[in-house]
Amino acid sequence: MDFDLLHAKAKSDCEALLKDDSIKVRVSALSDNSAGAAVLGAFESGLKNSGLTAAIIRAGSMGYYAMEPLVTIEMPGHPGLVYPNVDEAMADKLIREYLIGGDPCIDTAWYSLGPDTFDTLPRASDLPLFRVQQRIALKNCGMIDPERIESSIVGGRGYSGLSRALEMGPEQVIRQLSESGLRSRGGAGYPTAQKWELTARTQSGEKIVVCNAVDADPRARTARLLLESDPHRVLEGLLIAAFAVGADRCIVCVDQARTTALRRLERAISRMRDFVLPGDSTPGCGFSTDIQVRPVQDGLAAGEETALLRTLEGRQAMPYLREPYPVERGLGGKPTLIQNIETLADVAAVFQESSQYFSSIGTSRSTGTKIVTLTDSAMGPCTIEVPFGTSLRQILTSTGAASENDAIKAVQLGGALGSYWSGDALDSPLDFDAVAKAGAIIGSGTIDVVASTACMVRETARTMAYTHSQSCGQCVFCREGTLQMADILKSIEDGQGTPQDLTLLKELGEQMQVGCICGLGRNASNPVLSALTLFQSDFDSHVQGLPCLAGSESGAAKE
Ligand code: SF4
Repeated sequence: MDFDLLHAKAKSDCEALLKDDSIKVRVSALSDNSAGAAVLGAFESGLKNSGLTAAIIRAGSMGYYAMEPLVTIEMPGHPGLVYPNVDEAMADKLIREYLIGGDPCIDTAWYSLGPDTFDTLPRASDLPLFRVQQRIALKNCGMIDPERIESSIVGGRGYSGLSRALEMGPEQVIRQLSESGLRSRGGAGYPTAQKWELTARTQSGEKIVVCNAVDADPRARTARLLLESDPHRVLEGLLIAAFAVGADRCIVCVDQARTTALRRLERAISRMRDFVLPGDSTPGCGFSTDIQVRPVQDGLAAGEETALLRTLEGRQAMPYLREPYPVERGLGGKPTLIQNIETLADVAAVFQESSQYFSSIGTSRSTGTKIVTLTDSAMGPCTIEVPFGTSLRQILTSTGAASENDAIKAVQLGGALGSYWSGDALDSPLDFDAVAKAGAIIGSGTIDVVASTACMVRETARTMAYTHSQSCGQCVFCREGTLQMADILKSIEDGQGTPQDLTLLKELGEQMQVGCICGLGRNASNPVLSALTLFQSDFDSHVQGLPCLAGSESGAAKE
């Protein structure tokens, strides 16, 4: 497989995109943003009626959901301009006043691309939102058409990493991955190359790679964003993994409710087969692998890797105790490499760029970047990608989720199973080891800001009730522990708690950390234990019958 040949083949379909003298209009939006299709239609018909020729790109979301549809216009001789919240009327205005009249309507633009700009308009590089980010896994999200493989190849160098990997051979691929320092993004950060090496070494007639592309945490958006906006990047990482470990089968597990993600992934697989790997194998390297898509249910327990394997075997989605590890005996007893979707997107980046490039980003022991979703910010919920080593405070101030002087109470990192962070801890550099040392998790990368007026008894009571609803019920400590903790917290919230209840909460929480089979039960008490440490006075005032010092407003509504 020769990427230059692939690029040349794709290029003929993207001529207008590559010409310096053509107008380019890109409409970026999440699939359920109904205005996205309307705005796209307005540009298509408006440009046709005006007689102007332009390349129009229907892109996926960039992750700035409340600002979408985002329209980027690149006019020859002008810097690229990005307009937020464009509707049909605005699309008409941009055609009339900018594309025909030459007035770029600067007052409605958000920022400009590249080094040049207009007097009153910031460049992307001037904005904290972009300065804090380094987009590797999300690089093409919102930039390319996710339904056209040509757009991925020409606009995002899609499959150039696979081409390099196939030239290297499996052993060299694993060595390069090891040099990149990539750690798996789905859990505690196990070195990805070690997992691949173990799978590669296992002698077996059949090996399988499973991509966990489910956002188990309902407020995380990583899987959805990648699948809807850049499914080819995920496929590229998956193919590299299959090649390196010698897998004949790949399965991508997608949340059954994400119909657009499922459709785009199916289409991407079909186009990849025709375009990138025609036939059953790649001439010269003997590599062939089958790829299936499996819609599965979401949920905290169902997303655990052993539960996912049981789902794929047609059994109830219940985690089981390892060993044996799936890399030795997984799906149907066969060696199975399970990789989180973000890890595979990073794999594609390692081979599209280089292991040195990847390892130069982040910290020495947590290389690369992390995708995080803020459940609220100055622009509503958003998904961004930051280098490891960035602090939570930098993320909060850059996205406007909190200004430097805002009296926020805490941040919950990692979704419903995540600990609370506050005060100076918000300035700690984010990396796997620092987070683990603090007894916390990065988990889904979800970041909830808790307002200064929030009551932590109420916050934790809601979170624990949700976690209990997600327990599969197999372990007594998880099934009964989450129920007991939720009940105790509710009774404290209702003014019926006692000081002994606080001791009991702590004891229960600590026992759950060691007595459960999977990460759900082991991490379920993180929010309560961290809140008891950081905000003891909130709990004390409730059990002493004093008015709640925190007030009645909740900072982070739970689903
Ligand atoms: S810890 Fe909870 S979710 Fe995990 S296996 Fe045990 S009961 Fe099920």
